[in-house]
Amino acid sequence: MNLLLASIALSCCLILLMCTPTYAAEVHSNSSGLSRPSSNQGGEQFDLWRRQMVKYQLINRDIKDRRVLEAMLKVPRHQFVDPSWRDLAYSDRPLEIGYNQTISQPYIVAYMTQAAQISPSDKVLEIGTGCGYQAAVLGEIAKQVYSIEIIPQLAQKARLTLRQLSYENIEVKTGDGYQGWVEHAPYDAIIVTAAPKQIPQNLIDQLAINGKMVIPVGTWHQEIYVLTKTQDGTVKERTIPVRFVPMIGKSRQ
Ligand code: SAH
Repeated sequence: MNLLLASIALSCCLILLMCTPTYAAEVHSNSSGLSRPSSNQGGEQFDLWRRQMVKYQLINRDIKDRRVLEAMLKVPRHQFVDPSWRDLAYSDRPLEIGYNQTISQPYIVAYMTQAAQISPSDKVLEIGTGCGYQAAVLGEIAKQVYSIEIIPQLAQKARLTLRQLSYENIEVKTGDGYQGWVEHAPYDAIIVTAAPKQIPQNLIDQLAINGKMVIPVGTWHQEIYVLTKTQDGTVKERTIPVRFVPMIGKSRQ
């Protein structure tokens, strides 16, 4: 009888295991998951944490875009943060990157990237390069990324990290994002990762028709807006509440 119960339990376990969804998060499953983080670039522990981040923080919420999930699975987030923060790089929270700025929580990066509905042939503008992580995620799924950072030291450091990781389709400039980057406009998508009080008109002007802008708007109370530019004007959708650092610089409004 005991034997029968044990074999029924074992069969149930096997069926459950077989039914567990395998997704992008499981594609490169070769890690023991037991080692401490190593200083080598592709440390197995970081790979495991990144797969867990994609599975538990993104797929288990509402991130469904396969290209976004694959990009988040690929970009080594720990290499964008200071070595002292690396063990927390894949946790469900924003992290400090110096100069009173932060890298967004992984879910927010994925949410904004998914909302922008980027195609492989797209040209994308990012405002607020920070450490360059969001730019790298965009670089994985768009053809070309232009990113503007107002703090020169952060722009320089992001350029270095992106070069070390061989992102050749990302250009970073030091400047005030309120002006946009008119030389390369129009953009198929614009992602803003610092919060202005209102959507900057210059950025709307530099968006292509049918293009999308994903932008946190507000001061204390902020929400992510998804703006679509149409032939006749713009359509704005207010989405989730967020807390971003303020967009500084010279607003023209
Ligand atoms: N996307 C970044 C995180 C951004 S934090 C990442 O992946 O790390 C917001 C960034 O916006 C900060 O680095 C801040 O310096 C920058 N910022 C704030 N106001 C800006 C402006 N007017 N133009 C360009 N960058 C700005």
